[in-house]
Amino acid sequence: MLLELLHDVLPEGSSLPKNFNVAKNMVKCLGLGYINIHACDNDCILFRKEREKKNVCPKCNTSRWKSEKKSPNGKRVHRVRMKVLRYFPVKKRFQRYFMSSKIAPDARWHDEELIKDGLLRHPVDAPFWKDFDSSYLDFAFDSRNLRLAVASDGFSPFRTFNSTYSIWPVILVPYNLPPWKCMKQTNFILSLVIPSPRAPGADMDVYLEPLVDDMVDMFVKGIRTYDASKDECFQLRAAILCSISYPPGLGYLHELFDGTEEHRSAPVPLTGEEILELTANIHTSFGKDPTTKKPANQIPITCCKKNGLQLKDRKGD
Ligand SMILES: [Zn+2]
Repeated sequence: MLLELLHDVLPEGSSLPKNFNVAKNMVKCLGLGYINIHACDNDCILFRKEREKKNVCPKCNTSRWKSEKKSPNGKRVHRVRMKVLRYFPVKKRFQRYFMSSKIAPDARWHDEELIKDGLLRHPVDAPFWKDFDSSYLDFAFDSRNLRLAVASDGFSPFRTFNSTYSIWPVILVPYNLPPWKCMKQTNFILSLVIPSPRAPGADMDVYLEPLVDDMVDMFVKGIRTYDASKDECFQLRAAILCSISYPPGLGYLHELFDGTEEHRSAPVPLTGEEILELTANIHTSFGKDPTTKKPANQIPITCCKKNGLQLKDRKGD
């Protein structure tokens, strides 16, 4: 309605979309859309790949649907899903970085413009970046290949109205860019929005599945991409080098933090191969017990406003 009104006001030949559907299709063509993936209410699985057509979770037998209603003539069934994960496919988003001749050179900044004086001012100066480059020479050969960090944290979209509701966006940060650009919000890549009245906890891995699949593909094979700054096509690859988070997000992404304070000196860092060997026989079972909706140790947080001050209090404290 508003778009139609604005379209009438603007001069003839305006590129403003005529209505919401035209605007939505335009965004879809740019690769800015997202995919809805249904999830089990207890966070056991995602209904994708071989489980895409299933109506019941094969692990906890919980229905995929919150409600099912038949139309009056009985021909159509209207279903409301329990939980839905929004996945923003990352491959097209990576390709878009190279579509502008002004932005594309930024991906090579760490190789061409960085002042190599031994000072630590960007992740490219850190040992983990150098270790990665020396381990994967074919990846490091093309400086346009994207080095990323993954970040996640929970927040309540309803502010203080429902402070127990927690939604978890998963964001990728491109570290190829110079320091004054890589941490700008406009350069962040939103990859997942994990919905839940509860935090995903250790079941975060279930929701990371579509992102991990695409990132493995991007690291192994890559994708043919047009570089506007050099007017050529190349095979773009990408890898996640590190994560940015603090507890509890740190624990969810790494499944390492259990809340215990440790005061010993830091252990000797293990290599990726050593970690893989140590965790090879660990069996992980995802999903929450359907009989207990809230974990016993999770105390609901209530927020109240008093005398203009916002106070946070835990029930039972
Ligand atoms: Zn389940």
